[in-house]
Amino acid sequence: MRAVQYRTVGAGPAVVDVPRPEVGPGQVLLDVLAAGLCHFDVSVMAWPADAFPYALPMTLGHECAGRVAATGAGVSAVAVGDLVAVYGPWGCGTCEACSQGRENYCTRAVSLGIRPPGLGRDGALAEQMLVDDERHLVPLEGLDPVQAVPLTDAGLTPYHAVKAALPVLTPGATVVVIGVGGLGHVAVQLLRALTSVRVVAIDVDAKRLDGARTAGAEEVLLADDRTAERVRDLNDGQGVRAVFDFVGSQSTLDLAAAVAGAEAHVSIVGVGGGSLPVSFRTMPFGATVRCSYWGTRHELVEVMALARSGAIVVEHELISLEDVPEAYERLRVGRVHGRAVAVPGAGDLARTGGLNR
Ligand code: NAD
Ligand code: ZN
Ligand code: ZN
Repeated sequence: MRAVQYRTVGAGPAVVDVPRPEVGPGQVLLDVLAAGLCHFDVSVMAWPADAFPYALPMTLGHECAGRVAATGAGVSAVAVGDLVAVYGPWGCGTCEACSQGRENYCTRAVSLGIRPPGLGRDGALAEQMLVDDERHLVPLEGLDPVQAVPLTDAGLTPYHAVKAALPVLTPGATVVVIGVGGLGHVAVQLLRALTSVRVVAIDVDAKRLDGARTAGAEEVLLADDRTAERVRDLNDGQGVRAVFDFVGSQSTLDLAAAVAGAEAHVSIVGVGGGSLPVSFRTMPFGATVRCSYWGTRHELVEVMALARSGAIVVEHELISLEDVPEAYERLRVGRVHGRAVAVPGAGDLARTGGLNR
C-alpha cells in the first residue's frame, strides 16, 4: 500500500510502497478515509539526528478517520465497516490519568514505549492504519470523515486548552489567541461556542486574520513590535484574562507575558521553542501558565458533538497521499489554508457520498 514516510533524519517525507499491516489480538485495522497534516510533524522532521527519539522509517500522520477493515481476537466494540475517528494520544490505559480517559497525560506511556500513531510508530498517512486498542476509536455518527479528522487534534487540542481556562472566561472578558492557523482558527470558534468572551486574534498573516474574523474574533491584529501595546489599548489599558499561544516562539511568549492581566490564564500550545519565565517579577499576580498537550478521550467525544451541532467547522484543503510532501513544505512556510487533509481512498469516499469536494 502507499504510505507517506519519514525515512531519514534531514531528508523530506517520501511516498513509498509498504506492506499492509496485519491485525493482531485486540487490534483494529482501519482503511484510512482521511488523515490530517499537523505543524508538529514539520517540527519533528526538523529535529537533529542526535536528539531524534523515534525509530525510522515511520509512517507520518497523527490525525485519522477511517473505516474498520478487520478486527483482531477479542475486539467487540467495533465491527468491520464501522466509521470511526482515532483518539491519538495513546497511553497505558490503566494509570490514574488513563483510567480517567486522560491518556494525553499518561504517566507510563514513555517508559512502556507506547507512542501515538505517526509520532513514534506508523501513523495515518497511508491506505491503512493499525490501532492498538478499540478504546482509541470514537464512532463518527454521521460526521463526514474529512470534517471529522482534524477534530482529533486541531479540534481536540484547543478544546482541551479552552476547557481548562473556562473558570476565568467570564462574559465580556478579553482573550487573546496567537496564531490562527490549523489549531488557532478552531480555538476562536470554540471560544465563540463555549463562552461570551471578546476574542482578539493575532497572526503574522493577514489572510489568517480574515479567517479568524469569520470564525468569530471581534478584533484582529497583525503581529509587529507594537502588538502588546495595541492589545492593551483595545482593553482600556488593562492586561487580558487569557492568552492561548498556538505558536510558542520566543516573540509570541514574550507577547503573552506582556498582555496577561492579573489572574490571567496563559496556555502554551505551540511548540515553537520559546520559553516563558514564571516568577513574581515576570508575571502578574495570580497568573496561571499551562503547557497544554492534546486532549482527553471524552473531550474528543465532546468536540465531535460540537462539530455535529454545527458550532465548529474546520477549514480544510483536500490533497492526495502523493501531494503530502509538497503540502508539508507549504505548511512549513505558512501556505496551507486551515488544515491540509489527505484522502487516500478518494474514489471510495466519493461513492459513499462523503467527499465534499
Ligand atoms: P499552522 O501552521 O496551521 O498555524 C500556525 C499559525 O501561526 C499560522 O497561522 C501562522 O501564520 C501563525 N504564526 C506563525 N508565527 C507567528 C507569530 N510570530 N505571531 C503570530 N502568529 C504566527 O500550525 P498548527 O498545525 O495549527 O500548529 C500550531 C502549533 O501547535 C505548532 O507549534 C504545533 O506543533 C503545535 N501543536 C501542539 C499540540 C499540543 O498538544 N500542544 C498539538 C498539535 C499542534
Ligand atoms: Zn498535531
Ligand atoms: Zn497511563
